[in-house]
Amino acid sequence: MPEKNRRGRSGRSKKSAAGELTARDEAQLLMEAQEELNLAWQAAAGLEAEEFGVAPAERRPAPPKEAPAPRSVKKAAEPKPSKKGADAKTKKASAAKNDAGAKRQKAEKLRIIPLGGLLEVGKNITLYEYGDDIIVVDCGSTFPDEDMLGIELVVPDMSYLVQNKKKVRAVFITHGHEDHIGSLPYLLREFNPPIYATPFARGLIEGKLEESGQLSSAKLATIHPGDVVTAGAFLVEAINVNHSMPDAVAYAINTPLGVVIHTGDFKIDSTPVGGGMIDLAKFGEYGKHGVLALLSDSTNAERTGYTMSERTVGETFDNLFRGCSQRIIVTTFASNMHRIQQVIEAAAKVGRKVAITGRSMEKTLALAVKLGYVEIPRDTIIDISQIKGVAKNKLVILTTGSQGETLSALYRMAFGNHRQVEIGPGDRIIMSASQIPGNETSITTVINQLMMRGAEVIYERLYALHVSGHACQEELKLILGLTKPTYFMPVHGEFKHLRAHAGLAERMGIPKKNIFLSENGRILEITATGAKLSGTIQAGQLLYDGSSAEDVGNVVLRDRKTLAEDGIVVVTLTLDREGALVCGPEVTTRGFVYNKESEDMLGKLTSLAADAVYAGRSSKGDWSAIKQAVKGKLSDYIYKQSRKRPMILTVILEADIALSNL
Ligand SMILES: [Zn+2]
Ligand SMILES: [Zn+2]
Repeated sequence: MPEKNRRGRSGRSKKSAAGELTARDEAQLLMEAQEELNLAWQAAAGLEAEEFGVAPAERRPAPPKEAPAPRSVKKAAEPKPSKKGADAKTKKASAAKNDAGAKRQKAEKLRIIPLGGLLEVGKNITLYEYGDDIIVVDCGSTFPDEDMLGIELVVPDMSYLVQNKKKVRAVFITHGHEDHIGSLPYLLREFNPPIYATPFARGLIEGKLEESGQLSSAKLATIHPGDVVTAGAFLVEAINVNHSMPDAVAYAINTPLGVVIHTGDFKIDSTPVGGGMIDLAKFGEYGKHGVLALLSDSTNAERTGYTMSERTVGETFDNLFRGCSQRIIVTTFASNMHRIQQVIEAAAKVGRKVAITGRSMEKTLALAVKLGYVEIPRDTIIDISQIKGVAKNKLVILTTGSQGETLSALYRMAFGNHRQVEIGPGDRIIMSASQIPGNETSITTVINQLMMRGAEVIYERLYALHVSGHACQEELKLILGLTKPTYFMPVHGEFKHLRAHAGLAERMGIPKKNIFLSENGRILEITATGAKLSGTIQAGQLLYDGSSAEDVGNVVLRDRKTLAEDGIVVVTLTLDREGALVCGPEVTTRGFVYNKESEDMLGKLTSLAADAVYAGRSSKGDWSAIKQAVKGKLSDYIYKQSRKRPMILTVILEADIALSNL
């Protein structure tokens, strides 16, 4: 295992890289960390506020009574204050502490507001607000529904954050999946908060911001499990979890009212492929000292039992690779580095070379190798352009396209458009991914095409070809049991997932009144005496298509739906300056009726349009009145005839001369 990865597993203390820690070192470190933590708490609100150019808040949060000692404490992101400056501010903060007590008694509220990720799977973003401080956990995007024609990306409405940008101290990213980082470029267009992410997530964010031209100005900082960051009134600790991507973390958010645990996506894998097992001890430690609230991943809350370990898929690969005489092609999610690691290992075991095709997979793998998250045995990888020289039974091709995406490498292979890979009877294709709901049709199309070319396609459930990255019921219960939260909010899921997760919590003894089934934009308000859902802020979605930098908006989308469902009728007229018809009207349609078969109707539409021009002429010079008249007449007639409402477009050309001059 490369150096980086090894260090990540063994904790983050500086000494671990150099050698073993003695018990005394360990104790000393913990004491220092606790002391630093207390100092950080005293300074928190004032210090961080000043760092980001905002006047310090009046109140000073007290340290939590018995927070578990962190391994190291970071004092927020750049720009770092000079030592002298920091000391001065710390003192000032302490002096102000006394008079803050009384105010804290009556006023302090923690507001937890999801802006995305509830009643949906995707675009996760949650904000935590306490007094004048806001932190954001995740900033994801989602893919469009089928009825969002031409839309490529859906981004949460972040107006509330933009309006309150002076309060936003930092963004904390749990991991690098698109539904957790995809909206960062849109947030950074509005303002520029520090962003904390683990190394792999950070690498993916950097790639994304490089494409959008925002990398050089972004304030990115790396966080590791065990690190604690102060951000305004919050002290945030990252906790290692397992997921279908390296470097996923949960966050323990220490607030003046208590600790909130935000799990992010997770599962419990005791034999993970990369990184260490989820830090259950840390969850338990927080639970022992009292957890105010838990926000936990609900994706698999309907599934009983446990999610299988990623290792089980490795065994399947071994079985399918061993003794196979065909060329092997494996498709999986481009970001699932653990899966890719296992394909490479299985290939190396049977002496096969591995070639990668698909831009997103190549890019992500290069990052993972650079950071030490994927280890490649010597001479295993070859370039896709070199596969011609390798015998079929000595080759594995790893490719994108597990969801039948039309731009993916597997899709191009299926339809004979891939430059290097031609599919035939000598191929065994392994679909190592789940079918994401909504993608079934496109996946089936690809499978059929591959089979028609003579390939063997293995996708059945009876092979353990895929395991989920999310926790099932027993794992969710374990986290609930370890953290024992006072309040619980299931997140990351559709209503049915949230409901199932709430049911688990109830069965585990959390009173129903303390479980909050919420929605995007809804405020969960917690005080020292209780919690309630109280009010809403603006939330929703913005739609982007490939070309525009601006949100597409509902009007455009409505037009696209009209065009798709009912087609378009174009009426072209030439009028003189007096508004008399010089030429036309000419009626053309697309996607509405087939012209040749509907000549009667077109004839009727033409004469109706001509009538409408004469009717609309009374308001001389005002062509919008003529357009309205044409549209009204045609629309009524078409609806009566066909029950359709096509888009009606009237184009008026102006003739240079008046008709009377001819
Ligand atoms: Zn994820
Ligand atoms: Zn997710």
